[in-house]
Amino acid sequence: MSAHDHDHGHEDLPVAARVRRLEERLIEAGQATDAELDAYLSTLYSTASPVNGARMVARAWTDPDYRDLLLEDGNAAAAELGFGPLSYRLNVVENTPGTHNVIVCTLCSCYPVSLLGPSPGWYKSFAYRSRTVREPGAVLAEFGVSLDDDVTISVWDSTSEARYMVLPARPEGADGLDADALAARVSLRGLIGTALA
Ligand code: FE
Repeated sequence: MSAHDHDHGHEDLPVAARVRRLEERLIEAGQATDAELDAYLSTLYSTASPVNGARMVARAWTDPDYRDLLLEDGNAAAAELGFGPLSYRLNVVENTPGTHNVIVCTLCSCYPVSLLGPSPGWYKSFAYRSRTVREPGAVLAEFGVSLDDDVTISVWDSTSEARYMVLPARPEGADGLDADALAARVSLRGLIGTALA
């Protein structure tokens, strides 16, 4: 029996079984070994945390050259702090007095997992994915983010190749804090854009 004798109604299978089918295809095609896939996943799960993104933000708040690099080449900025290589292009979008950024994946749940950790359930919800593009101000208000009327909201739709992270504005009263203390001021929602920091 060949690998293609099964039927193709995979949509009914649980996600874990569909993922395993995909892994088997990669292994059959000689693209990866089981050991390589296991090693990749265990590294990802042991290191993927919003602390990583928070450290990048804290550095950008204190180091203008790093801020410039972060906005120009997110992958290089991640590598400078020892994160990566990333399997996607990282675009970092900066909140300013006139612009607030928020990220979404309208199609599914694309997200920079290695820098932000596993995505929250609401990020993957149909309501968030559909409403954030239609009525971002209302969605942000439900998260407790109230913006002045003259602030433009930019919504960034992620794909598997291009993923986003928000560089929040540095909070008031953070002068003199060291990098760890600054990083502690950065929340996961701040990195997604559903909080101010
Ligand atoms: Fe997606």
